[in-house]
Amino acid sequence: MMNNSLENKVAVITGASRGIGRQIALSMAEEGATVIVNYNGSAEKAKEVVKEITEAGGKAEAYQCDVSDFEKAAGLMDYVVKTYGHVDILVNNAGITRDNLLMKMSEEDFDAVLSTNLKGAFNCTRHISRQMIKQRGGRIINISSVSGVMGNGGQANYSASKAGVIGLTKAAAREMASRGITVNAIAPGFIKTEMTEVLSEAVKTAAEAQIPMKHFGETTDIANMAVFLASDKARYITGQVISVDGGMAM
Ligand code: NAP
Repeated sequence: MMNNSLENKVAVITGASRGIGRQIALSMAEEGATVIVNYNGSAEKAKEVVKEITEAGGKAEAYQCDVSDFEKAAGLMDYVVKTYGHVDILVNNAGITRDNLLMKMSEEDFDAVLSTNLKGAFNCTRHISRQMIKQRGGRIINISSVSGVMGNGGQANYSASKAGVIGLTKAAAREMASRGITVNAIAPGFIKTEMTEVLSEAVKTAAEAQIPMKHFGETTDIANMAVFLASDKARYITGQVISVDGGMAM
């Protein structure tokens, strides 16, 4: 069903070929937004997302870009501004994990996770901020994690990157609030995607035991919050970290 809470809005979703980003793209398109489906390696999956949106009567296109690359992220934003004339919503969702115990964690695994999860969000925010300030309006939604709020053993790199995203969110929110731009973070708990599919049954069972609601969330649980934060109904909310995690981080 098509609604219209995001009608005439242009939304860039990073890492929208799969998982949570994919669902955010579908849900925002359903609300009337034109969606730029960013991906890095999964070209076919990104095309499928675009197809699903256009077949349902929505507007979308795919754009390949590694968000951890400063210049390529600039290219993405320049392209969108040139093509559509405005960018109303940026969702910094692209993220990876390279889990290991601290004493075994390689420098490469630390750097890779920080580059995509934190620097990627910085790059995209940095390159769209001038345009949003010029527009005197915009919505930036960063996907953090319960690991960034609480910390998680075996995820020092990931937890640091996601806590970094929270700092970035608050600094950006303060810097741009007077220009009509809101910046918020969503901190998902365990959500059923390929990222959590790889976890062993033992890890999944241990994780479920930590969740007051006792089960993993769906990608739509995160997408619903992203749509709300992007909509006019959330216009007075900025600098917040909203947990969508079945009660984990309370
Ligand atoms: P996922 O299924 O593994 O999908 C990750 C997405 O990020 C893919 O579309 C991937 O694109 C994209 N991506 C990775 N590196 C990229 C890069 N350098 N440039 C552009 N795109 C890149 O992950 P997910 O579970 O949906 O997670 C999405 C976000 O939610 C992440 O930030 C993650 O940390 C966060 N999160 C997830 C959970 C969870 O339980 N699933 C919990 C808390 C937070 P390609 O395949 O095209 O490379």
